[in-house]
Amino acid sequence: MEKNVLFVASECSPFVKTGGLADVVGSLPQVLQQEENTDVRVILPLYEEVISKWQDKLEWVSSVYVPVGWRNQEANIYQYTHQGIIYYFIGNDYYFSRKGVYGYYDDGERFVFFSRAVIESLAVLDFKPDILHGHDWQAGLAVAFAKILQPIENMKTVFTIHNIKYQGILPLDTFDELFNIPREHIGGMEWNGLLNCMKSGIFHADKITTVSPTYADEIKTPYYGEGLYSILTERQDDLVGIINGIDLDEFNPMKDPHLTSNYKYSRVKKKENKESLQQKLGLPVNPDIPLYVIITRLVEQKGLHLVQTILDEFLQEDVQFVVLGTGDYEFENFFYHAGQRNPDKLVSYLGFDEALARQLYAASDFFVMPSQFEPCGLSQLIALQYKSVPIVRETGGLKDTVFPYNELTGEGNGFSFSDYNAHDLLHVLRYSLEIYHNEEHYKTLLKNVNKSNFSWNDSAKAYAELYNTLGYVIS
Ligand code: ADP
Repeated sequence: MEKNVLFVASECSPFVKTGGLADVVGSLPQVLQQEENTDVRVILPLYEEVISKWQDKLEWVSSVYVPVGWRNQEANIYQYTHQGIIYYFIGNDYYFSRKGVYGYYDDGERFVFFSRAVIESLAVLDFKPDILHGHDWQAGLAVAFAKILQPIENMKTVFTIHNIKYQGILPLDTFDELFNIPREHIGGMEWNGLLNCMKSGIFHADKITTVSPTYADEIKTPYYGEGLYSILTERQDDLVGIINGIDLDEFNPMKDPHLTSNYKYSRVKKKENKESLQQKLGLPVNPDIPLYVIITRLVEQKGLHLVQTILDEFLQEDVQFVVLGTGDYEFENFFYHAGQRNPDKLVSYLGFDEALARQLYAASDFFVMPSQFEPCGLSQLIALQYKSVPIVRETGGLKDTVFPYNELTGEGNGFSFSDYNAHDLLHVLRYSLEIYHNEEHYKTLLKNVNKSNFSWNDSAKAYAELYNTLGYVIS
């Protein structure tokens, strides 16, 4: 049976990206589309950033009126086909012709509008989804409205949680002011006296997914559940964790144009890439010094308080360290000064730089990611692709993709520790150094890293199977 799936999301590569969500929404449809008889399309807001870069390519489809409280707001729908996928964009100058993506006082109203516009647009698109698949809180209300308003007979819904920390919480009055749906539905959208877009998605979706099996377990507990653990526990029979993949063609050190030396099949050109990076960043040039890197948003989630506590102690070892990141002032300030204190050992580059990120993955021996929580994490997967050994805390997707090296069995593709404790991190950093200097173990470890493969194929199959449980069978 033919199966039509509509992804609803607030970001998607290559159009607009602030984080991992864009990578997933940008790459999963292509892979799913390869499943027989599956037509996956994506619907997004038309931000100024998209207009400025893609305007010439966008084709106007139709316009619809979207009820937002007492007003009718116009939504202009555009479409564009990119690499075999049809993307729809919801345009409204008032809500989306602004700089950046999020961070406005009325973000709640913007995504109420977007979610309702998605539902209204189904009346005019020549595409009738069997499944509406919403991503994160910005699409939570689209899932809820789909269930309540039933714009297409028998349409099923899936809701994917990429990060439960961000929930889209609004005053409860928003329901009466903006929603235009019968009041009996307020219970499915309210949480702790407030209106919660993420909870609305969880409550109304036929199936709920999140981006790794471990995170699916974790968010059912008070520590990780960010206040929503009880509803997730109630819905656990419909909750499944499917690990994200990465686009192996995009993250390919054999042809990445940003690298000084591309790898050649079995020849991993670490030393060449390390030397040119050391030169570029003003570190002592010596390819034999082990290089540790961090590439991340500088926020608490990424375990940076642990790094803060033990960094100077670890830098007493014969190592080099590079931090690439941007984010909270506390961490930017810390890493800036750590670089000043240790000019021969640590460079902090405070910014967002895709080329430098790729060079760091290629040049480094170890990738440090001691997250407090990590729904899936893509960086450790990219690191494995570029043969940089991940050192992680055992949480969420990190636990599902990085396995600690075991000297007895010779198994494992990285290093890990369990408790959120700075000295456990220091211990494992020192242990990684010990293995680095042990030729035999290090060789085995790198062999295991080489074998790690996190393409989308298996995960896309898992999504296809999930869709099938909703009553659509791939012939
Ligand atoms: P999250 O989505 O929580 O930020 P992920 O590990 O899923 O974390 O994805 C982060 C992505 O952003 C990776 O591709 C990583 O390389 C990239 N990235 C993070 N910070 C920077 C930066 N300062 N410069 C370049 N790329 C970055």
